[in-house]
Amino acid sequence: MAIAQQEYTDLLKEIATSRVTLVAVSKTKPKEDIEAMYALGQRDFGENYVQELVDKQATLPSDIRWHFIGHLQSNKVKYIAPFVHLIHGVDSLKLLKEIQKQAAKNGRMINVLLQIHIATEETKFGLDEVELEQLLQELIREPMPNIRICGMMGMASFSNDLSLVRAEFQQLHRLFLKVKELERPELKLEILSMGMSADYKIAIEEGSTMIRIGSRLFGARGTP
Ligand SMILES: *Cc1c(COP(=O)(O)O)cnc(C)c1O
Repeated sequence: MAIAQQEYTDLLKEIATSRVTLVAVSKTKPKEDIEAMYALGQRDFGENYVQELVDKQATLPSDIRWHFIGHLQSNKVKYIAPFVHLIHGVDSLKLLKEIQKQAAKNGRMINVLLQIHIATEETKFGLDEVELEQLLQELIREPMPNIRICGMMGMASFSNDLSLVRAEFQQLHRLFLKVKELERPELKLEILSMGMSADYKIAIEEGSTMIRIGSRLFGARGTP
């Protein structure tokens, strides 16, 4: 059992005044670690891999709010649609259409965040500003009654250059406010998901409302 209980209580204290939601990222960690964190009162957990999430959800307490924070393939939406609380990494119309279809099938409303590409690395998923614009245009013609688009998510560069990381979070926050100002009825932008173990402090300073913390709480991960 490797959760860092002291880190958890310290982190909660640290973010208490900023009204930020903490998502405990439990990917690759055993169910026992999640149970231990649950016993401390944590209810929001984030996972990256569909199969792992499905396995954990089946046996862990039903009042856990499961966040899918990885890259979601359309053909796997059906496995998490019955229970997922929030899908963070949505970056295409194709994926939105599939989420809509599966949400309707399950008689549910599914919350999603649009993932925006802010990092300098090529490998990360997400929409750039032009692609976001296109997607928002397409949504006008494509009503999605079972989807609630409730915010945006982004990952900053893995970099020691903290001014770069800060600039990327600022860019995302600006974009978030810009789209919010459009006041489009189908967009209920309230959540700005940014910040991980290494950069959450900067993210909160730059307007994050939801941080996704893994290694700081559960210890370092091996490769899955
Ligand atoms: C793994 C992961 C995290 C947590 O990362 P840590 O550095 O361990 O806090 C947050 N967000 C996403 C999208 C991740 O894949």
